[in-house]
Amino acid sequence: MTSLFSNKVVAVTGAASGIGRAIALGLARQGATVHIADRDAKGLAETAELIRAEDGRAFATEFDVSNERPMVGWIEQIQSTSDRLDAAFNNAGITGPAKRIEDYPIEDFQRVIAVNLQSVFLGMKYQIPLLKRSGGGSIVNTASVAALTGPGGMSAYAASKHGVHGLTRVVAMENAAHGVRVNAIAPGWTETPMVAANSQQNPGFAAIAQKAIPAKRGGRAEEIAAAAMWLASDAASYVTGHMLTVDGGMTIGGFEL
Ligand code: NAD
Repeated sequence: MTSLFSNKVVAVTGAASGIGRAIALGLARQGATVHIADRDAKGLAETAELIRAEDGRAFATEFDVSNERPMVGWIEQIQSTSDRLDAAFNNAGITGPAKRIEDYPIEDFQRVIAVNLQSVFLGMKYQIPLLKRSGGGSIVNTASVAALTGPGGMSAYAASKHGVHGLTRVVAMENAAHGVRVNAIAPGWTETPMVAANSQQNPGFAAIAQKAIPAKRGGRAEEIAAAAMWLASDAASYVTGHMLTVDGGMTIGGFEL
């Protein structure tokens, strides 16, 4: 039986942990050769080990996705190792501090924008030509429900994720006639190390967030990965420029009777 990503070459950033790790593992299980990137060398090696333990193919590269030079180097390395690219997942991200705008340090604002938004710009800038040379493919960027809402205290994060949504639509428009589909996922509250760390820092916020989810539970990284993988697969061949929320109903905006 052929799997969904047999003979495909894919790239995943932020693959040392959480959603990125679940995407990388899921893709490897579906037959893909997976190029993984992260700034966390230890977590990255663990993800590569998990993939290889199931006889999957993984190539790991440690770098900061907000920097242009190493991003160029990574894409060149994918080309020289695998000679093609079929799908890319620009997923690495950070939340930044939770502070009202009048207390929000500009250095933190700039760092969050660089890691969450500039990285997606850089990723797509250098992935698009290789995807086109490979005969077409697909990109999935990780946004957030914060691309649709205004969570207090999270100005940099929400701005960066609204930006990811906008970038996704522009690059989808530019490439719709050129065989490259570009979409985003908007995860809600997902039980990853990022959220665990945040909950510890702000237990009140965590309690409010849990209550605000109609499904009354956080998501699992695998549930987010499944949506990202569907968007990247041929099953979504006519879907482009779309941001798919995967949030247990968090952004429905109505109320239960
Ligand atoms: P996570 O912290 O478990 O994983 C994020 C990964 O990104 C980490 O491995 C980290 O080392 C890596 N990373 C961070 N900055 C980097 C940089 N500059 N260069 C390279 N790698 C870097 O978090 P997660 O929850 O899996 O988050 C993945 C994505 O999902 C992020 O973009 C996040 O904003 C988004 N998201 C998460 C949630 C949630 O509830 N967990 C909700 C909405 C969106």
